Order: sequence, then structure tokens, then C-alpha cells
Amino acid sequence: MKIKTRFAPSPTGALHIGGVRTALYAYLVAKKAGGVFSLRIEDTDRARFVEGVTEDIIRTLKWLGLTFDGEPIFQSKRVDLYKEYAKKLIDCGKAYEKDGAIWFKVNLSGKTAITDLVGGRKIEFENSTQKDFVILKSDGYPTYHLAHVVDDHLMETNPVIRGAEWISSIPKHVQLFEAFGWEIPPYAHLPIILGVDRSKLSKRHGAKPASEFRTDGFLAEAILNYMALLGWTPSSGKEILTLSEMVKEFDLSDVNSANPIFDITKLEWMNGEYIRKFQISNFKFQILEYLKELAGGVAPDHPTEKEVEKVAPLVKDRIKKLSDFIPLTDFLWEKPEYDKEIFDRLKINDLRLKMEKVAEKMEEMEKPWKADIFENTFRRLADEMGIKAGDIFQLIRVAISGQTVTPPLFESIDIIGEEETLKRIKAAIEFLQTT
Ligand code: GLU
Repeated sequence: MKIKTRFAPSPTGALHIGGVRTALYAYLVAKKAGGVFSLRIEDTDRARFVEGVTEDIIRTLKWLGLTFDGEPIFQSKRVDLYKEYAKKLIDCGKAYEKDGAIWFKVNLSGKTAITDLVGGRKIEFENSTQKDFVILKSDGYPTYHLAHVVDDHLMETNPVIRGAEWISSIPKHVQLFEAFGWEIPPYAHLPIILGVDRSKLSKRHGAKPASEFRTDGFLAEAILNYMALLGWTPSSGKEILTLSEMVKEFDLSDVNSANPIFDITKLEWMNGEYIRKFQISNFKFQILEYLKELAGGVAPDHPTEKEVEKVAPLVKDRIKKLSDFIPLTDFLWEKPEYDKEIFDRLKINDLRLKMEKVAEKMEEMEKPWKADIFENTFRRLADEMGIKAGDIFQLIRVAISGQTVTPPLFESIDIIGEEETLKRIKAAIEFLQTT
């Protein structure tokens, strides 16, 4: 039987990071087998429907590169179909109408069992634990149970890949398939992702809608890579994999049934790895796209394309997220705000006097400043003042940027320019005089 998977989100809230993993696994299973991956929008819960979410889901899947085949299927457009199937069940005595809704008559004898593709677990229920349930609501829309069974039958879904929260509904779904006389599809229930403290994943663990990870400066590749490993260990043992490598290696039988842990610090680390591996031209491109599309308004005039080109090589290995680019470099185009506490951290005596000496030297130095002369001049000055060379460069760094961590000093000064650098040293002297 052909492999056909689908991602079937309900547009009741933005696409969450857990949903990304479900979509990714469904995508991988389909692509590996040369099968079909579809998107089905489960928009039959009209009370919980949220405007704009469907668009967010489609946009985010596109950004991630999880391209679905064909057009998305909207359940809300198939209401007549579900009605027809619910009526069929009434006609053969397997469902009944009560208060305007249609209920499925559950068989209470025997057991219902499936073997889950995740971990090969046998999942078994006593049917006596079940109760009749609604399949078509009084508003005419189907419940998830009916819509799942009808759609996955008609779409020939094989296998059904969904979250483990649906395991408890297995008796309902199996009985519905049987009532229609349809084959029961193979199921893969993906274990629920937990936070680092093993509690339900939430904002406090750094989990959020996938589109927010994008605005926060995460890369689609890193998110996919990290989410893929939440529950799956590639047999090659590789930790960094592209989407096409995942397609080659993925196997549902390698998915672990234990609950995986979402650790935002690992995701950040992985994102940094991806950034470091970028070719510089691609890095520039990513930064520019990010600034244009997502951070528009942060610095309306700067950085310009030329400025990004200049700075990109200096920061590529120092950032974990595209968004880190802004706080690390904005001092290059904007005068810094000083903070006394940051100057205090330098632990240099008579800081203002030493800063004045630095300013004098800068005024004397022949322009344009050259990296080696600049370095030797200030090493000598540090010697004369009886402080470490590292300290003098740190003092200059804080004066020109207001911060203790920046791209390399001379390269930064080269971008700021001699005149502006000197102005900032003088501004720092003034600041130290008044605090
Ligand atoms: N709409 C369901 C959900 O978002 C889909 C479950 C399924 O994939 O069948 O949980």
C-alpha cells in the first residue's frame, strides 16, 4: 500500500513547536517512501476556531520547508460528506439521533487492540470501559472522531501519525472503522514532549509558537534538526542533519516511546552551530532577510546592506541567533548609552585620567589608523600606566560601545571611524566626570 501521511492541525491556536515535530515526522515518512504528504485543516470546532491561524500554519510550514502535496483539505468544506456517513451508520443501526446530535452506539463486549508503530507497543482497551459518543454535533459539524475516520479512510492515510494524546480515543476510532467495514490504518502515536523539569511543556520552558521562534532569530534548519531528534535517534548517530539527510535516515521504528525533553538551551546551541557552518555570503543573506522581514523598525536606517557586509564576518562565530546580531552591532551605528556599573566592572583605578591619556594618544596618532600601530601604541601606553594591555583595550571597548562584549576592537573602530571613536572616548570621559 502506498505511503500517504498527513498533518492535521486544528486552527484553534498558532502552530506550536510540538506540532512542528508531528508535521516533520509525517513529512519524513512520506518523502522517504516516495509517498504523499498532505495538509488537512481540522476546522470543525467552530467555537474554538481562531481567525488567521490557518494562514500562520501554512506560512510556517513553508518557512520550515515542509512542503505538502496538493492543496490543503478543509474539513469545514466537507460537512455534507460527514453527514452522509453519519446517516449511513444510522441506517445500519450503528448510530442514533438524540437531541439533534448523532451518537455512535459502542460495542461494549470484548477488547480493542492495535500495535503502535512507535515502539511496537500493543495498546489494548476493554470495550466495557467505553460509552456511546457524539459523531455529528447539533450544529451539523462532525466531531474529530468521525472526521478522522472518514477522512483518513478516503485519503487512504497510511500510517496515521499524530500526538499520543489520541491514544485513549483508539477504541472509538477502531470501532468506527469496523462499523463502516473499512480497514484500520496503521497508527504512530508520538510521545508527548515535556519541559526540562518533566512537566507539561509551556512558555516557561521557552516553548512557543513556531512563528515566534522565527522572529526570535532561529533558523528553520536548526528547528527541524532539533525537533527531529526529540524522540528519534538516527541509526548513524549523527546529530546535525539536513532535511534531506533526515529523509534518507528516518524510520518510525527508531522513534522512542519515552517522552522527549525540550531543552531551549540545546536548540540555541544547535542554532549557533548552523550559523557557524554558514558560508559568509549565506550568512549575510540570512541577516539581511531577517532584518528586512522581521526586525523592520529596530534600526530604520542602519545597518545598510553595505554595513551588514562589513560586519557579518566579525560576528558570524559569535552569535547563536540571527537576532543577536542587533544588540552586538548596533553600537557601530548608534551612540552608546553608558552605564556606570559597566565601567566599574573594569576595576581600573583613576579610570577617567587613563581615558584622557587614551584620548590624547588618539589625537596624536596619524590617520588613517593602522591595526598594528594602534595595537603597539596602546600596549605601550598600558605599560606606561602600569596596567595590562587587555585592560586598556577593554577600557576603549566600553567607551566606544557601552558594553563589554563586541566584535573585535580594531575592526569595530574601523567601522565607526576615527573621528567618531574619539568623540565617544570624550563622551565617556564626560560621563565619568559627572557620575
Ligand atoms: N486535529 C488533531 C490535532 O490537532 C489532529 C490529530 C490527527 O492528526 O489526527 O490534534
